[in-house]
Parts: sequence; structure tokens; C-alpha cells
Amino acid sequence: KAFKTDTSWDQAQGFVERLGETADQLGLGFGVKFSNTLIVENHRSFFPESEKEMYLSGPPLHVLASNLVDCFRQRFGDGYPISFSAGIDRKNFADAVAIGLTPITSCSDLLKTGGYSRASTYFRELDARMDRLGVNNIPDYIIKVYGHSEESLSQCGLAESDARLKACRQALENGESLREASGPELHATWLSRSKLINTLSYVEQANRDERYALLKNSKPPTKVGSMLELFDCLTCDKCIPVCPNDANFMLSIPPEQIHVKTLRLQDGNWTVEETGKLNLEKKHQIANFADFCNECGNCDIFCPEDGGPYVLKPRFFGSRQSFLQFSGHEGFYIERDAGGDTVL
Ligand code: SF4
Ligand code: SF4
Repeated sequence: KAFKTDTSWDQAQGFVERLGETADQLGLGFGVKFSNTLIVENHRSFFPESEKEMYLSGPPLHVLASNLVDCFRQRFGDGYPISFSAGIDRKNFADAVAIGLTPITSCSDLLKTGGYSRASTYFRELDARMDRLGVNNIPDYIIKVYGHSEESLSQCGLAESDARLKACRQALENGESLREASGPELHATWLSRSKLINTLSYVEQANRDERYALLKNSKPPTKVGSMLELFDCLTCDKCIPVCPNDANFMLSIPPEQIHVKTLRLQDGNWTVEETGKLNLEKKHQIANFADFCNECGNCDIFCPEDGGPYVLKPRFFGSRQSFLQFSGHEGFYIERDAGGDTVL
């Protein structure tokens, strides 16, 4: 159903032709982005049965979106810049650069343990590949990265007698700047041809790569079957680094026994009654700063217990206003003034 109501490939080609033409007439740039999360049938047990659809992202989307880039380039060549966001991670970021995609954005991978710090590994990998090729700029990296530089040069329409051809070959052999050897105009054409050839190469490689295949991507997140409570849990701390907003944090409360006091309002007066004992057994507790949490649910995916840390762990608000505004789940707000502390 979703595919029937969504844009078809034929329609999309029409959009690009018309928008590209309009942008040209107005002297503006026009580009496309691949891709959005892909709507798929909810055929698993992780989400409730009542949800008929779910959204695919991460590695399987990467290979599908890369094929879409290939389709697009078969049709439009390198005529439009392509922004890419589909399953980018440390292992494929340098390839996305190699096929000339820009800007490249990442999401699913940064929601895993390590969070935003994972992005630094993307650049480490790209740096390492550039070092191996002896290049210090992205265009020369694109031209050389998959070993197609001669093939792409041969597609630039140069006569064998053209002096630039010899200069480019020499620069390739001696590891010199390709831009200087070719000049800006030829360099742009060479780069463009390289992006197209690299796309074919990379998509073939990605299609064969087992890490994008069903077998490597069919395991649902592990759950141990227990429900989270306000205090104590497996204390694996996974919910802390996977939060993109840094909303979950560790609360240092030493293991101890706490007397539970219940306040009751009777005839206009508060009474305090001891109603039990709470044993805190873990080395520390987990809490949530609700003002930072947008309830994306990512910590729930990674938490081995059920219920979601952002729902069941103590939620603290930074202001009375946010406490009142986001009252959908339980939470605390502690107000401190000269008269003492007020806990809401
Ligand atoms: S639900 Fe809240 S605490 Fe959990 S990952 Fe999302 S923003 Fe962070
Ligand atoms: S709330 Fe879940 S993810 Fe966080 S420490 Fe406890 S068991 Fe681990």
C-alpha cells in the first residue's frame, strides 16, 4: 500500500527534470537526497502487532540507497549533486566520499554505543585510505581510490596527442597533484567521470557484501524478559552512551536500605507514614534528565530490560514549566529557595 501511494520512479524522474530546469533558469542549484527511511511491513515481534508498518534504516538501507544512486546516475549522469543518508558508518563512509556524495549524514550508527564519538572513526578511516593513496584532497582521492583513474581519464575526450594526457599520466605515476597536472577544466571532467565509474564499482561491491545481507541484519535487540523498576536494574549502563541527547545519567547512590514514607492528605493536614523498605543493591542508579529527552525511544531499544529507561527510571525536570508541560510520564522537579526544598 505504501509503495502504491508513494512517488514512482517515473514521477521522480519528471520531478528532477522540471526542478532541474527551473533551477537552471533561476540561476539556482538543485540536488537530490537519498534516502529517507524505508517503510516496510512489521513482520517481527519486536514492535506490537497493532503496528502494521515499521521503518528500515541502517546497513540494509545503505545498500538499497546505493543502488538508487546508481539508478539515478545511470539516468542523469553526474548532473546533480547527491546528498546521502543511509546506513553510513565507519566502514562505508570513505566509500560514500569515493563516489562523490555530499553532504553525507549519519544517524542510525550514531545511536549505537559510543554515540557521536563514533563519527571520529569515519574520518580516521578516510584519512588512512587517503594516506595509502598519497593524496591530500578529496577530488584526487575520488579519482584514484578504486584504481579507475586511467579508465576515467580515457573518457574525458582527449586526443592521444594532447599534452595534458601525458601530464596526467605522469602525475598519476609520480603521486603528484592531479589538479595541477590536468588544469581545472579537465580535472572537473575527470572527477565527474570518476564518480560515475566509482558508483558502478562500489554498488557491485556493496551488493556482494555480506554485512548488508539478511543474515547479518535479522537479529532483534536482546531482551532478558524482566521489567525495569524505578531503582536497580542490570546496571549495564548501555542507555547512557546511546542517548543522542545525553539525557540518561548515572546517579551515585551507594547500596543502602531506604525507609519508604508515604504522605497522605487528611482533613487538610499531611500525615507521614512509613510504608515499607526499599533495598538499593546496585553500585549506582540510572536517571533521566527529562528536559533533554525527546522520547525517541533509542535507550529502550538497547536496554536489555523492558519498559524503557526514559519512562521508568527517575525523571528529573530542570524547571517547573517543563515539569508541567511534559507530564505524560512520572517525574520530579526539585525547587530550592530560602524557605527550603519543594519536591513536585
Ligand atoms: S528516549 Fe530520551 S533518554 Fe532515551 S535515548 Fe531518546 S532522548 Fe535519550
Ligand atoms: S536502564 Fe537498562 S540499559 Fe540502562 S543501565 Fe539499566 S538495564 Fe542497562
